[in-house]
Amino acid sequence: MARADDDSWDLANSVGATATMVAAARSAASRRPNAVVHDQYAEPLVRAVGLDVFTRLATGELDAVDGAGDLGFPRMIDTFAARAKFFDDYFAEAAATGLQQFVILASGLDSRPYRLPWPARTVVYEIDQPEVIEFKTTTLAKLGASCAAEHRTVGIDLREDWPAALLAAGFDTERPTAWLAEGLLIGFLPQEAEVRLLDSIIALSDSGSRLAADYGQVTGQSADGQRQAQAMSERWRELGLDLDVASLTYPGAHTDVAAHLWANRWSTITSDLPELFDAAGLAPLGAFADQAPANSIGYVRAAAP
Ligand code: SAM
Repeated sequence: MARADDDSWDLANSVGATATMVAAARSAASRRPNAVVHDQYAEPLVRAVGLDVFTRLATGELDAVDGAGDLGFPRMIDTFAARAKFFDDYFAEAAATGLQQFVILASGLDSRPYRLPWPARTVVYEIDQPEVIEFKTTTLAKLGASCAAEHRTVGIDLREDWPAALLAAGFDTERPTAWLAEGLLIGFLPQEAEVRLLDSIIALSDSGSRLAADYGQVTGQSADGQRQAQAMSERWRELGLDLDVASLTYPGAHTDVAAHLWANRWSTITSDLPELFDAAGLAPLGAFADQAPANSIGYVRAAAP
């Protein structure tokens, strides 16, 4: 079913299931030798969601069979591990320069508020759909997980007035902020909502603020991208999950996040997936670098003027 402006979800369906898939990939990556990411909360979170295919991925069962853990997405486990490291490094650098206010947009099953060693006086906000936030928070509370930072959750749709909800939760516009949008600006919002989101971030950002994001269209606009999305859906279906991957994103062009920030006087550094693989010490992507989603997603780190 195509996306609708007022659609919503939990972690077992629609866009929410992609958060479970990414967490399952982080769990599988955490089990590999010389792991690039160590996400100890990913497996229990994915188990609690209860989608069999992603539980099998999270526990390493699928990854034990050569290539089976990639679920029709070439080098998927490595991709999400390299992406997680890129954004972990970004947060570590922001914390090291003294930033104490962090906002994770579309946090899904991201466990960074719990797993990162936050400096004293840090406040971490998470924003996602209400059901997603509620599920993660209660599941991790049952596991006894705690945060080194002060942790504030905001359950709201990012197509709505999330800045008002963030301000109501205590966000301080006079403190520089490190923003993160991981796995959001890759087709999950309509283009006008992407621009509104970026403009809100710009307006809420005191001097010294930063943003990191991936952006583009995960399923690509090309025939190759569509084939890729179909391959993923087929593999998920073989493993018991009936979800049309291409229908999860809004079709058409998406915002060039780096260009938009640059046009608003932010400085930007862009990277591509092969560079993230290299930084993570992973074997090169080879021919997969020229296919969607590797060639349809960019990565940016940006700083406010
Ligand atoms: N950032 C997380 C990560 O990398 O593990 C989750 C990424 S997942 C691919 C996409 C996330 O975007 C989901 O958690 C979904 O709920 C969230 N999302 C997408 N559209 C949203 C919207 N309109 N409002 C709130 N959250 C949204």
